Amino acid sequence: MKVLVINAGSSSLKYQLLDTASQDVLAKGLCERIGIDGKFTYKAPGKTTIDARSVAMPTHSEAIQAVLDALVDPGNGVIASMREIDAVGHRVVHGGETFAHSVRIDDQVLAAMEACIPLAPLHNPANILGVKACSAVMGAGVPQVAVFDTAFHQTMPPVAYTYALPYEYYQQDKVRRYGFHGTSHKYVTQRAADMLGKPIESLKLISCHLGNGSSVAAVAGGKSVDTSMGFTPLAGVPMGTRSGDLDAGILEYLMNRHGMDIKEMLSVLNKKSGVQGVSGVSSDFRDLCAARDEGNERAALALDLFNYGVKKYIGAYAAAMGGVDAVIFTAGVGENDADQRMAIASGLEFMGIRMDPDANSIRGKEAIISAIDSKVKVLLIPTNEELMIALETAALV
Ligand code: ADP
Repeated sequence: MKVLVINAGSSSLKYQLLDTASQDVLAKGLCERIGIDGKFTYKAPGKTTIDARSVAMPTHSEAIQAVLDALVDPGNGVIASMREIDAVGHRVVHGGETFAHSVRIDDQVLAAMEACIPLAPLHNPANILGVKACSAVMGAGVPQVAVFDTAFHQTMPPVAYTYALPYEYYQQDKVRRYGFHGTSHKYVTQRAADMLGKPIESLKLISCHLGNGSSVAAVAGGKSVDTSMGFTPLAGVPMGTRSGDLDAGILEYLMNRHGMDIKEMLSVLNKKSGVQGVSGVSSDFRDLCAARDEGNERAALALDLFNYGVKKYIGAYAAAMGGVDAVIFTAGVGENDADQRMAIASGLEFMGIRMDPDANSIRGKEAIISAIDSKVKVLLIPTNEELMIALETAALV
């Protein structure tokens, strides 16, 4: 089945056309600056790469049209006609408590997705725009599926998702832990079971998705039982520019001292904190490692803080699950940064984790990176959210 995977943002749209049988990416690219001055990229194996500026894209509909035009182009395309696209799979950030699984989109589902907008006011409207643009350009005949970032975590028990706030805020306002990166945590934990040759139902796994945004998930028997992100993606481990967990009392103190309103305060927590904020150097781990190696102490502290944060979650989730069979590293930092993986895992020998430095010195490939006699396995598994979305879409269609 050929599935077009769409990740629509407010002014951008990422796309991939995948063949779910072979799991090949037939083409992929990005529409940027939608509603501004339109930038379009397209890459397909054996074809000419397109990197075009000033493409007329006043709305997401013209962006989708540009994607389809490129895909069916007689010389440079990868399909003969749009009819070869069997379904469209959309990444949707927030499914609230309504969506515990991916769903085929109809008017009722679209209304329920709209009802989730207050929970993700920046992201869900853009995801919905992507769905509507596909309907407008491709017609109602092409099935569309929504795959939610939050859905995988809907199996968390109340003890993991309830905040110790007045209970009415959960009942009336839906304030609870939702968790994000669900598609990634689901994909890598399924791959981990395959790599270990064991049924996922028998495994206790800790999945560390460490990228620009980072989250750790405890997955027991294939179900998410806890995760570090919360009501929003601001919680958990320190990230590129997000603070992660912090004492809410700090907000009032800093707002008073610096005359900030809540919007400005949240902008600091989301965009100026994390390893960027602590180091003053960069949110990119490559820059931080380079700065640390040149003796920059704050870059070293930022990296230590990040590693310490992830290590604490590993310990917490092993305790929460009453043990752990494997720890998984994925996403930009988890897949590429051997030093950070080693720093996070070292000191955890007491709980049965022993790394193999040689096996760990690789990037971006599935591998067991723990020592052969390590009781708890440590796995490097590149995430593939687009493939997961395509497979879920194909299964529903
Ligand atoms: P996003 O959350 O935006 O999807 P990614 O998962 O792509 O992020 O991760 C991006 C981060 O991965 C970058 O900010 C960078 O710090 C890190 N990264 C990528 N390649 C390397 C590398 N070779 N070494 C260390 N860090 C890397």
